[in-house]
Amino acid sequence: MTQKTAIVTGAARGIGLATTRQFLARGHRVAMIDRDAAALAEAAEGLDGVLPVVCDVSDPDAVAAMTAEAAGAFGRIDALVNNAGVADFGPIEATDFARWREVMATNLDGVFLCSQAAIPHLRETRGAIVNIASISGLRASTLRVAYGTSKAAVIHLTMQQAAELGEYGIRANCVAPGPVRTKLAMAVHSPQIIAAYHDAIPLNRYGSEDEIASVITFLCSEAASYVTGQTIASDGGFQATGVGLP
Ligand code: NAD
Repeated sequence: MTQKTAIVTGAARGIGLATTRQFLARGHRVAMIDRDAAALAEAAEGLDGVLPVVCDVSDPDAVAAMTAEAAGAFGRIDALVNNAGVADFGPIEATDFARWREVMATNLDGVFLCSQAAIPHLRETRGAIVNIASISGLRASTLRVAYGTSKAAVIHLTMQQAAELGEYGIRANCVAPGPVRTKLAMAVHSPQIIAAYHDAIPLNRYGSEDEIASVITFLCSEAASYVTGQTIASDGGFQATGVGLP
């Protein structure tokens, strides 16, 4: 049987590393992509079937080289998970343009660039794209102008991809996680925000990396063969409540 493969960006830690492990458990080979070379080397150590590639997803040349390396090493690409992301907490009046551009460069340009580079390979396998947005892309708050806008754009880009690529058998879906205790979230979540999330989320807790990764790998699998253009919130019920973001 053909061994399937996936490219996972932001794979050195957090949700990307959990997704890598779940793909490996399903028998995939995985190209682990991250710009943090030291963290990537540490994460890849001892994992069988991975190809770690240091790459900044906002750099078009690096993305082209990374995709060629993964396709060359594996001979095929069945799934692309656009997970690399940076957090930002700031209202419009306190966000300078350089920071706005930085957030867009990784969270939005990175999804565009990695998808564009992978599409010729995904056409050959009738593969799948999963983009990682956030509940911050579904709800406005007073604090997340750059992050929330970048994630809302990722949700739209996913629908765009589904509309354009369906004729090649490529599916594109999006996962909008609620809060997960990763380095990204814990850098910006104060004790007050953590308590407010616990109150606002019907399941009264943060999610785990594995709970997000299992939705991602499901969407890449045959079990989701008729699902495309969707955004699935994996958020303990937060999106269902209508309560404002903490
Ligand atoms: P994390 O910080 O633990 O991991 C993110 C990884 O992406 C890091 O290894 C980092 O080095 C890498 N990365 C960042 N910018 C990059 C770039 N330009 N090129 C290549 N690699 C880059 O974060 P996480 O919480 O696992 O986040 C993963 C995704 O989930 C992000 O898109 C994030 O916005 C989204 N998300 C997270 C939460 C949460 O609460 N943790 C909630 C909603 C959405």
